[in-house]
Parts: sequence; C-alpha cells; structure tokens
Amino acid sequence: MFPRHDLPADPYPAQARERMTKHTVRASSLSSYADCPRRWMARQSHQLVQDAGYALNSIGRHIGAATGQATHQGSLSGLRARLKTGTFDPEAMDDVAISTLREETEGQVIWDDRSPNINTAEKQVIRQVHVFRDSVLPDDESEWIEPEWKGMHHTGLEVTGHPDLVKYDLLSDVKTGIESDNAAQYGCYVMLSWNAPEKPQLDHIHELFIPRTKITAPAPELDVIKYDLEGCVAIADATLTKIARALGEFEKEGRNAFLANTRSMLCSNTFCAAWGTSFCPESTLSKRKG
Ligand code: SF4
Repeated sequence: MFPRHDLPADPYPAQARERMTKHTVRASSLSSYADCPRRWMARQSHQLVQDAGYALNSIGRHIGAATGQATHQGSLSGLRARLKTGTFDPEAMDDVAISTLREETEGQVIWDDRSPNINTAEKQVIRQVHVFRDSVLPDDESEWIEPEWKGMHHTGLEVTGHPDLVKYDLLSDVKTGIESDNAAQYGCYVMLSWNAPEKPQLDHIHELFIPRTKITAPAPELDVIKYDLEGCVAIADATLTKIARALGEFEKEGRNAFLANTRSMLCSNTFCAAWGTSFCPESTLSKRKG
C-alpha cells in the first residue's frame, strides 16, 4: 500500500477497500477521467460494463494515438540500446517506429486533418522520432526506462504504471500530438515511486512534448513542460478516490455511478464507445450529429 505521507485521511471503510482489490487502474488512464467518467469506464472496463448488461460500440484507433505510440516505441528503443551497449542505431529507431505504426493501424483507423493517410503519418512519426533522437537522447541520463511499478491506493484499488524515463529525482514522460494536461497520470507515478524497487526520490516531473504538426508545417521542436509534483499527487489521489467510489457504486447504481459529460469535446460516436448505447442514453437526448 502507498505510504500515507501527507495524503488526506482515508475515507474508506475496510470492507469497501477489500472490494476494490479486484480492480486494477493504469496510471496513464487517470488524466482522462475528469473529462467524462462514463467514457473512462467504457474504455477502461469494457468487459465489466458489458457483463453488467450494457452494450458498447467498437470504435477505431485514432491516428494521433497510433502515431504517439509509434514515436514512443521508436524513441525509447534508441535509449534502451544506448543504456545497454553505449550506442544506438538511428535507422533501427526509425524501423521500430514504422513497424509499430503499421501494427497500430492494422484495424479501423480514425484519420484526422493532420494525419489524413498512412504516408503522411509515417513521415510525421519519423520526424517526431528525430526530434527525440536529436534533442533528448544526447544528454539524457535516465537510469531506468519504463520501470514496471505497481502499488495499492489507500482505497484498495490496485494501481500500475510505467513512466518512460526515471533518473533518481527526475521523472520524464514522452508525449506527442496535441498538448493536454497529464497531472493525474504523473502524480500517480510519483505515488507508485514511493514503493518502487528502484527507490528513486522524485522531485521533478518533466513532460517531453513533441507536437504532431501538419507535414506541410516546419518540423516540430521539443517542448519541456514542467509539472508541480505535489499538485500532481493531490490530483492523482483525488482521482483515484473518485474512481474507487464510482466502481464501488457501479454494482448498485449501474451507469449512474459514472457521471456522463455530454459537453466533452470527445462526446461523439467517433471517439466514444458508449455514444448512443444503453450505457449512455444521455448522449442522444439532444439532436447531436454523433
Ligand atoms: S457518449 Fe459522451 S457523455 Fe456518454 S460516455 Fe461518451 S463522452 Fe461521455
């Protein structure tokens, strides 16, 4: 269990905490919870929702997520090679990125105006990996790459996470695409670090942001975004507490345990598996295009 440090008093009775042990939450899912808790549930616990009798749609993989994953894999492959052998092969990094992108786009893909087709997406991924190779890799002193961390939140929720790069007091995470707030995710990593076998003493959080710019625009540049560590931990703790409470209420209350935010920018049949289904009737109360 996470040590309590300065976290607020545990609002959970032991019985509720015990029930939570069957749920595992990934740190990387936390930041999207507040945007629409119902969508979060549909996405993170697809099976649980369907087992409760709700139907969900299947939605494609967004090209932004696919290019992000490809950039991530290509970039970290270079870092891993250098940590192991002292050197890295730039072409091998590109190859990893492209093969990851092809895997990620094998099924249904949601293209957008920044990446309207696979050729464009491949070029974007390559230049994003090159930003990492040229702006991060030369000076990076990370000791651990994607350490697998696991812990127990004080509500009883099991939490997992693997931050991209850790160097004793510095946690860095690679993000691409469109800038968004990831405080809850990073705060959760910090909480997990308290019991991590590597025993880092995190004091700084840096997001290594590489924008997915249109291919006709100049090549993107690295932007290092610093986060306030204590603030991130507070948001992570509050989010995990809300999730635990909602999961506990789901058995009794069903979908209403998770608030539906129909004003979310992602509230559409393109981005949400619950849109127009029995799990989210709120989504079609007004005449929305979907
Ligand atoms: S359809 Fe809209 S309100 Fe319903 S879960 Fe999805 S994003 Fe949330």
